Amino acid sequence: MSSSAREAYEIKEEFDFLKRTKLEFEKAVQFINAEVRPIEKGIVRRLEQPFRQLTVTFPVKMDDGSIQMFTGYMVQHSRSYEPTKGGIRYSPEVKLDLITALAFDMTLKCRVADLPYGGSKGGVCCDPKKMSQAELERLTRRYTYEILPVLGPDSCVPAPDIGTSEREMGIIYDTYKMLNPHSPYAPAVVTGKPLSLGGSKGRREATARGGAYVLEEAVKQGHIEGLSSLKDAAVVVQGIGNVGYNIASILYEDYGCRIVGISDSKGGIYCQEGLNPKDVLAYKQNVSPEKSVVGYDGLQPLTVEQLLTSPCDILVPAAKETQIVGALAKDIKAKVILELANGPTTNLAHKILIDKNVYVLPDILANAGGVTVSYFEWLQNKAGENWELSMVEEKLRKKMVTAYTNVVETAKNHNLDMRNAAFVIAVSKEIEILTARGIFP
Ligand code: NAD
Repeated sequence: MSSSAREAYEIKEEFDFLKRTKLEFEKAVQFINAEVRPIEKGIVRRLEQPFRQLTVTFPVKMDDGSIQMFTGYMVQHSRSYEPTKGGIRYSPEVKLDLITALAFDMTLKCRVADLPYGGSKGGVCCDPKKMSQAELERLTRRYTYEILPVLGPDSCVPAPDIGTSEREMGIIYDTYKMLNPHSPYAPAVVTGKPLSLGGSKGRREATARGGAYVLEEAVKQGHIEGLSSLKDAAVVVQGIGNVGYNIASILYEDYGCRIVGISDSKGGIYCQEGLNPKDVLAYKQNVSPEKSVVGYDGLQPLTVEQLLTSPCDILVPAAKETQIVGALAKDIKAKVILELANGPTTNLAHKILIDKNVYVLPDILANAGGVTVSYFEWLQNKAGENWELSMVEEKLRKKMVTAYTNVVETAKNHNLDMRNAAFVIAVSKEIEILTARGIFP
């Protein structure tokens, strides 16, 4: 066993996403302190904590006439740049610590992608799969009203995340505009909106498209051992929501990959010859009684663990945090992991993967395409413009390739893994901004 493998097995596995983010942050701080320049301790403490955590509770009238109480959050992590930016999540797993971790991640992601935003994240603890469209609309309007004190095109600009989509973003815009009729830049209060309300072309696919650009660059530069082309490369995708479906489609249609595995929350399927993501989604939406990919084409159902350890070249976790854990990592067969979900890999699993020479493209780099095109949408709304898709994609590619190149160079120059390097870049930039601004008053 190599010394780094021994070290990996000695690491305490951290399943809590906030604690894990703080560990990565501490590691980056230690590196900068030792190798670059000493950081004022107070600045480190400032960076570790969100500047605002808003918790709201509110009633929603349900379709059966009953009234149900919900708890929602809006956490703004950094005001180094404003507005703050991040998705809104609807899930039964939403709680303050998770939203805080995701807001922290957003700040770091914006620094890696070089976007002038602080990080934030919102969410409501609810189960959107068990609610009607009318109930979700009432919940979204009331939640928007409750977070109104912090919401605004220059203060806090949400976007879609798990359980929310263009539809909810349109409702947030409408609610904000009704309550702020004279706001000149109201469409810029939220991104990921429908095109008819000022949404950007390419936003729906942006997280996946950005990830594909990073993966393409890594292959082109020969950074993934044993993978010299994306053509016919075998891909497993966990999750078939916005991000998972789009990455499967893009890799299948634009890069000629073979999508051998796909899953949703009910299980997965695997087919060596390859699946057409469009057909799998159509089966899930229109045929499956459980609204699942399981059962497609009579394929054997797989558990989450079986899917993640199936034979493939590229593994794309695109569901939720803490999916690739230490107990699974040693059995993972992929050559590269493209982290499109936020926080899908635990610290122990990451160490084991690095030791196995798996190339891990970390979330704060790999999935930054979503917030990047959100930034483009916000710019278009502010300027009253409507960019062509080719322009959005060209600008996205440039941003993602530049971010990837910076992370690779930092990793090479300082002998760091890609996650470590991305954190070092993000933390260094954030410190630079905070130091330049100084402490108010
Ligand atoms: P979504 O709600 O559209 O889709 C989530 C998918 O994950 C669903 O298909 C669901 O069935 C599936 N899922 C849930 N639990 C699962 C499990 N245990 N195994 C397999 N599948 C499971 O959400 P999304 O917007 O596609 O977000 C997916 C991930 O990408 C999240 O981690 C999110 O934070 C991250 N992300 C999203 C964006 C964006 O622009 N939407 C941007 C950056 C990062």
